[in-house]
Amino acid sequence: MDNFVNDEGYFGAYGGAFIPEILHPNVKHLQNNYLQIINSEDFKTELKDLLKNYVGRPSPLYHAKRLSELYKTNIYLKREDLNHTGSHKINNALGQILLAKKLGKTRIIAETGAGQHGVATATAAALFGMKCIVYMGEIDMQRQAPNVKRMQMLGTEVIPALSGSKTLKDAINEAMRDWINNSKDTYYLIGSVMGPHPYPDLVGRLQAIISEELLTQVEEETGKAYPDYIIACVGGGSNATGVFYHFINNDKVKLICAEAAGQGIESGFSAATTHLGSVGILHGFKTIIMQTKDGQIEETHSISAGLDYPGIGPLLADLKDKNKCSFIPITDEEAIKAGFLLSQKEGIIPALESAHALAILDKMQFNIDENIIINISGRGDKDLETYFKYL
Ligand SMILES: *Cc1c(COP(=O)(O)O)cnc(C)c1O
Repeated sequence: MDNFVNDEGYFGAYGGAFIPEILHPNVKHLQNNYLQIINSEDFKTELKDLLKNYVGRPSPLYHAKRLSELYKTNIYLKREDLNHTGSHKINNALGQILLAKKLGKTRIIAETGAGQHGVATATAAALFGMKCIVYMGEIDMQRQAPNVKRMQMLGTEVIPALSGSKTLKDAINEAMRDWINNSKDTYYLIGSVMGPHPYPDLVGRLQAIISEELLTQVEEETGKAYPDYIIACVGGGSNATGVFYHFINNDKVKLICAEAAGQGIESGFSAATTHLGSVGILHGFKTIIMQTKDGQIEETHSISAGLDYPGIGPLLADLKDKNKCSFIPITDEEAIKAGFLLSQKEGIIPALESAHALAILDKMQFNIDENIIINISGRGDKDLETYFKYL
């Protein structure tokens, strides 16, 4: 169960660590130490306390009765939206900050696109009294101004990436450069199951708290040991990895990923990575990515900033190859419709990312005696402006 990844950081054909030589000592140090630290009793006790008393875990598994009635099946929502700061991202940020502390680091760097990971990191850094710097594309800073202000209020310095397209990939380059120049005291906190080994494995393990809680919650709520389906949205793949984790080796549980089709797979404005992508190297690891014939990363589009990423985590890419996980594209419009439906049927306004997972209900047939878990990765507060355009 514990070992989806091999010693070289590969999940099947994907993963690894493709990094400039100058970063090798930093990455190697992390590879050699992360498992021992996160598996130590000391670390586990401290993180468990934070997750309980600071984040508010366990997040409930809620039986959505009115939604279940509509779709004539049994739908349960894993409520990551109720976490402190509003999504699953805090699970990872706190775990990695604690790891950074144990490694003796005092300075945290991160990069962020929409700002959600930046806010989670800034929150964790404030809590631990660590200096925090977040790199963000200049264009993204304009598009996500409230999150920039939130990070600043939390005491984090936000530095604009001014090169290239001035978006996420340029912010990643800036963060890498910083890490090279400040390797002694600095920890690079990555926000999803991406980057060079050990990050995909590390982030997956930290998010696995979601499915660990499900092991008992499913039994309590449904009377059965496991659900028939688990559904999650995929940007990089961290909430999906976390909610699948303890059920991956159970062949009876069907795993479904909703990926962002944007304006439609063929429209040229999409982030449906597994449908449009091919094998390549991005951000230090091998995976399925959206790229041109000569290997340039393609611009992605999704109404939801958190799903607007041109690659997927290596574990999910491997599960797809092995037919253990299906990927279903959901358009912007379908996600909006699902977001309104959950709001009006259950009184829960989901993040636009999570609305993609909900939209799967219209794409598949479920039986009256089946149990479906949908991961509500975050709350919709940050997306109200977008939703309001459709009122
Ligand atoms: C960032 C984010 C996502 C996408 O990231 P994953 O790593 O794929 O989970 C999904 N939902 C919410 C609410 C997010 O903030």
